[in-house]
Amino acid sequence: MEKRKVTIAKGDGIGPEIMDATLEILEHAGARIEPEFIDIGEKVYLAGQSSGIPDEAWESLRRTRIFFKGPITTPQGGGYKSLNVTIRKTLGLYANVRPNVSYAPFVKTKHPDMDLVIIRENEEDLYAGIEHQQTNEVVQCLKLITRPGSEKIVRYAFEYARKNNRKKVTCFTKDNIMKLTDGLFHKVFREIAEEYPDIETEHWIIDIGMAKIADSPQDFDVIVMPNLYGDIASDVAAQITGSVGLAGSANIGDNFAMFEAIHGSAPDIAGKGIANPSGLLNGAIMMLVHIGQPDVASRLHNAWLKTLEDGIFTGDIAKGNSSVGTSEFAKAVISRLGQLP
Ligand code: ATP
Ligand code: MG
Repeated sequence: MEKRKVTIAKGDGIGPEIMDATLEILEHAGARIEPEFIDIGEKVYLAGQSSGIPDEAWESLRRTRIFFKGPITTPQGGGYKSLNVTIRKTLGLYANVRPNVSYAPFVKTKHPDMDLVIIRENEEDLYAGIEHQQTNEVVQCLKLITRPGSEKIVRYAFEYARKNNRKKVTCFTKDNIMKLTDGLFHKVFREIAEEYPDIETEHWIIDIGMAKIADSPQDFDVIVMPNLYGDIASDVAAQITGSVGLAGSANIGDNFAMFEAIHGSAPDIAGKGIANPSGLLNGAIMMLVHIGQPDVASRLHNAWLKTLEDGIFTGDIAKGNSSVGTSEFAKAVISRLGQLP
């Protein structure tokens, strides 16, 4: 069968370690993909290309329209724009889908029944990149919420719920304070909810909503929210399943899609060979489903689950108990391909 071309960036920090491990697993699982490697991120910025992404990388993306991306670092200071934000905006990746599932009793968590999906708006809000310095002592960041953008993401959340047999969609905003911006997002949510009478809906103010995720995540199903809240909520949700290193994400647009781990480049553990490749692997599993290879996706997912069931953990999950490194974990997954958990 023909291989699907995929643009791949290994990224910064732990990126190359977890990407190499993940690609090795994908190859053994029989993923029908043909990588086109591109260099983006820290190296490119520091070489003087101020967008952090060279022309040939865009050309590859335009050709393949599928991007599998390791975590990247935007250097602090120097006025560099976030590369993640540039990519999401340029490729029109408006929906960021982040499933968070507990793997109890194998992976230790206080929330064994958790299975929720955060759908984060991915182009607007405080991430629109509109920041000004007004005076020496006053700076400003503009929060941008549009009706078309809100309609698109809210409709995506309801359609996602329907397709994936989910029963409830929750909306988080802070519309008691930001009456216009978050108010619009909430209003659009109420309007579109009427078109989906088969799906239960609710709305929480973000602060109590987050507290509820931290306390009783099993009460949630699909949760849709503006960009910044989604960033924070998905780190919390992933961490309470056991580790921020577990969750993958899909960034979906009309013409492009990008798949990655939810976590960042983790410079504190880079180069040590101990990072958990599971988040990136789960991103790859979402990508395989997206490009029409669900057979490979489920073979991979089963092997990965079996690895966890057998108690083989990287340090972030083992939490002081005996653990394996990144490549040893990958080998354990590979050796379980074809065995059902
Ligand atoms: P970003 O702003 O890009 O989301 P962040 O500031 O949230 O980045 P991360 O890079 O995600 O930070 O790291 C947060 C913490 O989680 C760090 O202590 C890091 O070591 C740990 N961590 C992140 N990813 C992994 C992983 N794959 N395996 C193990 N630990 C991880
Ligand atoms: Mg983060």
